[in-house]
This record gives sequence, C-alpha cells and structure tokens, in this order.
Amino acid sequence: MTDRVDVVVIGGGQAGLAAGYHLRRRGLGFVVLDAGPAPGGSWQHMWDSLHLFSPADHSSLPGRLMPTRPGQTYPDARHVVDYLTDYEKRYDLPVQHGARVHSVHREGDRLLTESDAGAWRTRAVISATGTWSRPFFPAVPGRTTFTGRQLHTVNYRAPADFTDQRVIVVGGGNSGAQIAADLTLHGRAQVTWATRRPPRFLPDDIDGRALFGIATARRRALDTGRPDTGGVASLGDIVAVPPVRAARDAGLLHTTPMFTRLTADGVRWADGSHSGADAIIWATGFRPALAHLAPLNLRGPRGHIPTDGTRALGEPRLHLLGYGDWTGPASATLIGAGRPARDAAGQITDLLH
Ligand code: FAD
Repeated sequence: MTDRVDVVVIGGGQAGLAAGYHLRRRGLGFVVLDAGPAPGGSWQHMWDSLHLFSPADHSSLPGRLMPTRPGQTYPDARHVVDYLTDYEKRYDLPVQHGARVHSVHREGDRLLTESDAGAWRTRAVISATGTWSRPFFPAVPGRTTFTGRQLHTVNYRAPADFTDQRVIVVGGGNSGAQIAADLTLHGRAQVTWATRRPPRFLPDDIDGRALFGIATARRRALDTGRPDTGGVASLGDIVAVPPVRAARDAGLLHTTPMFTRLTADGVRWADGSHSGADAIIWATGFRPALAHLAPLNLRGPRGHIPTDGTRALGEPRLHLLGYGDWTGPASATLIGAGRPARDAAGQITDLLH
C-alpha cells in the first residue's frame, strides 16, 4: 500500500473496486473508504435465492474473470461476495472497511473528505456509494396507518418468513418479479403482485449478456452520430431469469393494478373493494446515496448530480461511478463497471499531472 493518497474513493462495492484497479494501473496513490464491515458491497445483503441475470464470465470486473461454479449458470449473490472479496485481496486494494464518509467539502485546491476513519485532503475524489442504502418508498396514502409488516427489497430474505401470510408485493421491475416468483414457487404465502403498469417481460433469450450487448451497441451508435438504437428500455424491463420463467410458466405470476391506499389491515383497490394483508413488500427501487456530497451543492433535477461521463459538471475533481445509466451505460452492473472506472482514472491522471 502506498502512503501517498492522491484520490479518495468512497464506497468499496464493485464500482469502488473497479476504480481501485484502474487507479493502481495508473500508479496513483489512493484509499477506498467503505462503510460496510466486510467486502462485497450490497451483494452481502441480497435475498437468499437471488441469482445474477448474467453468467459468471459476463459478470466480471476488469482484470479477473469471475470463476464459474459447477451447476450454476447464473451465480448467486454469495458467489459475487466471494469474488469481490478475492478481487480486493488479489489486487491488494487499500480498502478500509467500517469507514463511513460523512461529507466532502471544498478546501482551496483540495477536496476534504471526512469519515469515521479520519479526514483526507486530496485533489480528486471518486464517489461510488451505490443505491442500496437509499431504498425508495412511493407516497401511497395510508402508509403509516397499516399495522402489518412493511418491508423493502433490502429487508426481504426468504419465503419462510411469510408462511401462511397474505403478502402484497409492490413494483413491476426485476426485484418485484423475482420476489413474487420466490414467494409463489417456494413458499406458503398467499401472494398478490401489484404494479402501476402491466409488467413488461423481456424475451426469454435476453439475459444480462444480451442486455450488455444492446447497451454497448447503443453507446457506439450515439458516439458515432448514428441514429439511437433505442437501447434496452424499448424491449422490456424484467429479465426472465430461471425462477421468474418457472413461476410465469407455472401460471403463478399474475399482476393486479396498484391499490389506491393502505388501510389499518390491508389495501383498498380502485374499485373500492378491500383485501386484508399481513405484509407489504415494497420492491419499488432505490435512489442514489449522495448525502455525503451535499456540501458541494451539485444536485440537479431528479436528485442526480449532472455529469459529463463520470465527472461532475459542477466539480471537475469529483467523479461518480455506478448509481445508474446517468454515469455511463450499464455502469451500475458488474460487467459495465470497468469502462467508466477506466475513464475516470484516466481523467484524474490528466488532472493531477
Ligand atoms: P454497492 O454494491 O451498493 O456498493 C456501495 C458501497 O458503498 C457499499 O459497500 C456501501 O457500504 C458503501 N457506502 C455507501 N455509502 C457510503 C458512505 N457514505 N461512505 C462510505 N461507504 C459508503 N448487476 C449485475 O451486473 N447483474 C445482476 O444480476 C444484478 N442484479 C441485481 C439485483 C438487485 C436486486 C439489485 C438491487 C441490483 C442488481 N444489479 C445487478 C445491479 C448492481 O450490479 C448492484 O446494485 C451492485 O451492487 C452495484 O454496485 P455498486 O458498487 O455501485 O454499489
């Protein structure tokens, strides 16, 4: 580990590790500050049955292929944690765990990063704090009235937690589909899946591999001035991973339009009817975890920080990695994390020299 710190990387999930890999290749001194007690980022917290939507060899960070696991085409979350743990060690990345960053301030020609593990003054900062710590709940009337259990995707673990219960899963994206499939295939809960719009399943042959190919083709088209190919969003939202396909094919996955409000013991539907419920699982997405950057006053509309590639428009010493497509196509996926990390390390090298 080098003692010279040119760059602070905030967040030690896959995006922060990919940044570390490229900063090391550039010969820059850096530290990675990660709030979590152990390696693996948010993969440590995902539910028991979750599997990736891409095979291992299409889920790799720069430099090292994710190993395949016999009998598992689509690796589970534990496998990703093992891979990231090994990645951190293999490249001897200087990650400090248990180091939550509270704030980043401007201080003359430096940025001051303050954390549980101390303060750093550097000429560049990379923020890669993901979205897992900011679960989003939509504003639905009666949310505080409901006396049953309310969970978010981040709290869901396994169907056994809902045996013989009436469960309403809310949200028409991948998490909603996978949790509804998990509950209906493996549990003994009575499941209702409520979505604002009818869910759009991607064709069965489109997995993460194909999605990455489509996102790459779109980026190439836009980069070279050719017409927009439309990208992934034009095809659908939900990847038909094996459990989702199995539940759908077994006729277990039905959706119903969103309820209008929660009551003390259930939900009220648009036609005025009422259903009792023991638990609501909000699979309603996330927002970027950017509170530590508030002192820089960079937020644009929709809560994002406007960027040119990965670099913050209002603060050229700050780069953002992960979070979503606004920091680069597919940048919040395992296979897509490498390219924006490489670009950020290159631009920081130019800034420092
Ligand atoms: P994270 O993994 O969340 O890492 C961020 C790190 O920053 C964490 O360790 C956190 O502790 C730390 N942190 C947060 N705030 C601070 C702070 N203030 N100071 C210091 N540290 C901080 N992608 C795929 O490629 N394939 C898939 O199959 C796939 N499936 C997914 C399934 C689900 C349910 C979800 C939610 C996402 C999925 N993704 C998938 C998308 C993406 O790959 C993951 O969300 C991934 O974890 C994002 O990595 P990250 O490094 O950006 O963020």
